[in-house]
Order: sequence, then structure tokens, then C-alpha cells
Amino acid sequence: EGGGSMAASGEGAPEGLCGPERQGAGGLALLGLAPSAPSCPHGPALLFVKTSQGKEEGRRFYACSACRDRKDCNFFQWEDEKVSETRLAAREEYNRNHQPSFTHRQNVERYKNFVLLPLSKRRFCQQCQRLLLPAEWEKHSDHQFLCDISTAQLKSPSQLLYPLENKKTNAQYLFAGRSCQFLLDLIIDLGFRRVLSVGTPRLHEMIQSKASQEDFRVRSLLLDIDFRYSQFYTEDEFCHYNMFNHYFFGGEAARETCRKFLYQGSGERVIMVTDPPFGGLVEALASSFKKLMAMWKETEKEGHNLEMPVFWIFPYFFESRILEFFPSFSMMDYQVDYDNHALYKHGKTGRRQSPVRIFTNLTPSMIVLPVEEGYRFCAVCQRYVSSGNQHCEICNSCTSKDGRRWKHCVLCKKCVKPSWFHCNNCNCCALQNHTCEKTDAVCFVCGKAGHKRSTCPSLSHT
Ligand code: SAH
Ligand code: ZN
Ligand code: ZN
Ligand code: ZN
Ligand code: ZN
Repeated sequence: EGGGSMAASGEGAPEGLCGPERQGAGGLALLGLAPSAPSCPHGPALLFVKTSQGKEEGRRFYACSACRDRKDCNFFQWEDEKVSETRLAAREEYNRNHQPSFTHRQNVERYKNFVLLPLSKRRFCQQCQRLLLPAEWEKHSDHQFLCDISTAQLKSPSQLLYPLENKKTNAQYLFAGRSCQFLLDLIIDLGFRRVLSVGTPRLHEMIQSKASQEDFRVRSLLLDIDFRYSQFYTEDEFCHYNMFNHYFFGGEAARETCRKFLYQGSGERVIMVTDPPFGGLVEALASSFKKLMAMWKETEKEGHNLEMPVFWIFPYFFESRILEFFPSFSMMDYQVDYDNHALYKHGKTGRRQSPVRIFTNLTPSMIVLPVEEGYRFCAVCQRYVSSGNQHCEICNSCTSKDGRRWKHCVLCKKCVKPSWFHCNNCNCCALQNHTCEKTDAVCFVCGKAGHKRSTCPSLSHT
């Protein structure tokens, strides 16, 4: 697999948040979830193929759906490989041994016991990322731990747990309080009563911690691959889930929990909110989300021809990829900010604008963005746009994707980034210091050769 250079090279394509997709310079394409796929500890593996110049080449193989780094899960199998009975048995054993040491049920029991302890006996092992019961202290005696774990701390596990920082596999970027509050207020104003939180532990936790308030009626179910959360939530509040292959680690019971949650009894409207790792595999995510949407639809007794409302939080430069799978979605201008990502913190000075946006199938005009942060309503486009986003009379839309004011190029017949100039060599707009030769590497966004992400033709369409 290629390094991070491709991903970071595109203008406005920020470093850090998005590792290279499998289809990076190394040229791997995802074929999807095959019915007879073998399993690794993370559920059914995905089928891939090596590509060169955008064309499929060579043998197809299965690899882990969740881990893009071989160090985290080294599962590999050629599609046409004959696997012996012995190896199959060994693999099953391996998969069993690589499940968490406590089950969710056990963790729920442990939590019940934990909260009965006096404050002075409530410890959290930082090394093992685990709440400790007094009988276990001994075993963790040379580990760092936190003492006096308060009820408030138990209610905000995303603060207690350290964010996973593995760039390739599971980098956790937690919402800044302001963005999280904005999302929740929006959800409430839109009249939703239930939130399926897929990979949004902080939103889930904000909802859960308000659930005890009398006038607060919103409920949330967290689906996430980070099993550490099972220490803090019951089986009705958290399902161990892999969003790249729609795999419920808790089996049919967990799936049923999700199904029940999606069932809208007595007009309790549901919305799904997801903030997946940006490392890519958009098609894998889209296929899982379609399955969750189908689950919602099955429970819809009235049989309306509706889609489950969704907020998919993702960088703007994936717009065309998301619309490919969800033509009913549109991208909102709201910039989602994060706490633990230096680049995307909303600072007073030298603010790097976050490239992360909300994609939704709700009517754009309903998504009211905060005027005090400079967003305004464009009457022509019938949606809120960022302050820098000017309505282009020629394109007849507010064309900026990144929040800066874009400019119209008559030769390209579209608006382009302010830093771009029309290059007669390339016959399109590009950065002034670009090299006119075509690159041999494949594009991070569309997987085709001949250009990089920064000049990908699929990005600038409307
Ligand atoms: N901004 C969100 C967190 C987003 S980080 C918030 O503050 O709530 C991405 C989240 O997706 C993390 O919680 C991570 O554990 C989860 N995740 C990563 N890979 C996943 C997978 N394969 N399946 C399900 N969840 C995953
Ligand atoms: Zn420990
Ligand atoms: Zn407009
Ligand atoms: Zn224009
Ligand atoms: Zn141009």
C-alpha cells in the first residue's frame, strides 16, 4: 500500500484525517462483501483486487474489512485458494481467541458492581482501558490508573477512554462540544426522538447523559467497533458493530436490539448519524448504511416510500463518491469541528477550516445553520451556506465546497478554487505551480490514473 503522500497532496485535502484508501498509489479496488466470504475476528472479510491504471489486475483476495493496517489484522486469503480443514479449524480458534476477554453481558454486570463501590474504590486502569473491581487491583498494580471515578466520569466515557489513534485502522476524532451540541439541537429541532449513533460515541454520550432529565425525550443506540464502550452501556444502549461489513459481533440478539430501536412506535422518529473513519472504503460504508436503512424500512408498517433520515459526516472531497451511492443526499456547508485534531479545531486565530461536512437526505432548507457563525440562507439554492460561499450567477448555485469564495472560470464552465488558474496545457484549472505532466499514480477519489485528487474531475461537479 502507498504511503500517506497521495492522500495529503491534494489541495484542501488535509493531512492526517484521511489515510490512503486501499485504492491509493498501491492500486487496490474493493469488490465488496461476497456471500461466501471467510471471516477474521472482525467478521466477514472484504474482497479486493489489485489494480493498475484503474484496471483490475491479478488475483482477487480477501482481507480484513475493519483494519487497513496489516499490523492490526493480518487476515489474508486468495479468493481461489483452497483452505484445508486444519487451517479452517485453526482460523476459527484464532477468531474465538481474538474476541474481547469479557463479554458485553459480563461488562454490564461489572458496571453494576462498580457503581455500588464507594468513590475511593473506583479505579480505572489506563493501560488496560478498563474499570477495575477491587479484587483485580493486584493484577494491575504496576499499571497506571485513575482513582475516584465519579458518576460524571462514567457518564462521559469518551473523556475517560483515550481516543484510539491508529491512523490507518481506527483513528477516533471526537466532536468539539460546539459541533456536538449543534448536531443534537438540530436533531431535536427537526423533531427526532431516536438517534442511531453509528461511530458517534460522543453524540451518544451527550444524549445518554441528558436522558435522566425529565423533559428530555431523545434516545440513542450506539453502534461502534470500539468494544471499550461496552463497559459503560447496556445491550440496549450499545452494540459492538463493524460498519464496513454490517457485522453485529453480538449476533442475532444485537441485530434484534437494533431492529427494535429502529421501529418507530408512537411516532418516535428515527435518524441515523454516522461519522466513519475517513480512511475510505466509501462503498463498503454505503453498503452497510443501505442495510441499516433497509432494516428501518422493514419496520415501517405504513409502507411509505421513504428513506430513513441520515446524517453522514464526512469530508467534502468525498461528495461525488457519496452521491454515487446516495443520489438523494446533499452536502451541507456546516463545518464539523473536532476536539483532538489540531487541524480542525475552531480557533480564533489562524483557524484551519475543517473539511468535514454533513451529508443528508433531508430537505436542505430544513437544515438551519447557525447565523452567529456566519452561515446565511441562500434563497435561490434554498439552503444555508457558509459566509464565504457566494452565489454564482452563471452556475446558478452557491458553488464553494470548502467555505472559501470560489471563482468562475469561463473556459472550464464552472467555479473553481480561488487558488486555481486556468492552464491551457492541461485544458483545465489547477494550482499555478502544478506540473503539467500527467501523474501515473491513481487518483485517491475516483481510482483512475492521470490525475491526482486535487484535480479529480469528479470532485467539482454539482
Ligand atoms: N466524531 C465522533 C467520533 C468519530 S471517530 C464522535 O465524537 O462521536 C470514528 C468512530 O468510528 C470511532 O468511534 C470508532 O471507534 C468508530 N469506528 C471505527 N471503525 C469502525 C468500524 N469498522 N465499525 C464501526 N465503528 C468504527
Ligand atoms: Zn491494567
Ligand atoms: Zn445560492
Ligand atoms: Zn460558477
Ligand atoms: Zn479553468
